[in-house]
Amino acid sequence: MARIFSGIQPSGELHVGNYLGAVKNWVALQGTAEAIYCIVDYHAIIAAYEPAQLRIRRREMAVGLLAAGVDPDRASLFVQSDVPQHTELAWIFNTVTPVGELERQTQFKEKAARAESVMAGLLNYPVLQAADILLYLADRVPVGEDQIQHLELSRVIVRRWNALFSPEADFFPEPQPLLTPTRRIMGLDGQAKMSKSMGNTIGMLDSPTEIWAKLRPAMTDPKRIRKTDPGTPEVCNIYHLHKAFSPPETVEHVARQCSTAGWGCIDCKKVLAESMETELVPIRVRAELLREEPARVDDALASGAARCRALASETMRSVRERMGLD
Ligand code: SF4
Repeated sequence: MARIFSGIQPSGELHVGNYLGAVKNWVALQGTAEAIYCIVDYHAIIAAYEPAQLRIRRREMAVGLLAAGVDPDRASLFVQSDVPQHTELAWIFNTVTPVGELERQTQFKEKAARAESVMAGLLNYPVLQAADILLYLADRVPVGEDQIQHLELSRVIVRRWNALFSPEADFFPEPQPLLTPTRRIMGLDGQAKMSKSMGNTIGMLDSPTEIWAKLRPAMTDPKRIRKTDPGTPEVCNIYHLHKAFSPPETVEHVARQCSTAGWGCIDCKKVLAESMETELVPIRVRAELLREEPARVDDALASGAARCRALASETMRSVRERMGLD
């Protein structure tokens, strides 16, 4: 059975973009592969943060993931800093990663261009990502298209390390991408990817009232000014959210009503709100139950971390031996 690894930052609330772009896929992959899912708090600290907030966010992320269907009996869910070998392997990989490769990473260039001063952690972030994956010898990584370049860098690191320290038989596998089937989820502004930092999200655990308050003013087809103007569903983010949440017959109905000016955008959004509630309300209810039973969350994270520490120890024993560090 293939082993997959995927991580998510404890960035506060899980939003609908995370849910459709990653978490639903995580849940679907459980059972098809040996799944290792990580709340990557070491990655989260490369930007300024409040320690007390980080604790809360890690917790809330675990609650959200479990409520959305990550099953501790079928996947290992854990917090990255509970397995300290992640940073040990990242340091080792830093010693075989050319700085030029890191400086060429698009995400680094974009973030560095906006920052007043750049910390080494931002540059070395993809090295830690490589360590996250390879600590478990994972051969499949569910990713969105924007993460493909980092995964390619992981393969470069693997090749260099294997050539230097395991030339006869490759110790580390070259991880392959498992592209997430859902297209990039745009934010409610219809302009940029849904992202907490852009303030254009709907929370996965939002109440129906909160969902409607955010959907109501959301961007639609910009050329549809009046209710009597026919719209173009494909250019409207609300239509794409329908495709993610509404049944196929509703999606067809939406496309027809929109392109024939058969209804207004508020009518369309009301139907979307109902579809979203149908899918998200049970998740919200499960999250509330988990908050009332914190021991269930603690147990899930502890058993995931114990399983991963054992795998990580085994990998690091072999790595140290091959590198003369034993
Ligand atoms: Fe978008 Fe629906 Fe309005 Fe068409 S009717 S522009 S799909 S919100």
